[in-house]
Amino acid sequence: MDKIEHIGIAVESLERSNELFTKLFGEPPYKEEGVASESVKTSFFKSGPNKIELLEATHPDSPIARFIAKKGEGVHHIAFAVDDIKAEMKRLEAEGFQLLNTEPKEGADNKWVAFLHPKTTNGVLIELCQDRG
Ligand code: ZN
Repeated sequence: MDKIEHIGIAVESLERSNELFTKLFGEPPYKEEGVASESVKTSFFKSGPNKIELLEATHPDSPIARFIAKKGEGVHHIAFAVDDIKAEMKRLEAEGFQLLNTEPKEGADNKWVAFLHPKTTNGVLIELCQDRG
């Protein structure tokens, strides 16, 4: 696993949170993108070398909607960059981590992504992401 690629924050309203984070960072999001398979809308901000992803549910059954219903808005996941997502998924599974998807999925911002179940990672949802190139 390499550096933290981004931190994902679950928000109720992307519109309101985009305004808030634009004030915080002094710059608007560099990208907004929907991920239909996850029923989310996302926006991405840069602050120096750091990247923040905001996620709003587009459906009441979306994992983001369920997260907010349970825990409220806030940090949702930490994403780590990997060079070879399939190899890393295999390695982590062998180490006893539970993967939420068995194959890499197409994520936002041109990435292949996979998630580790928070129950095997001290309550923190971990995302692996590899550039789709
Ligand atoms: Zn993410």
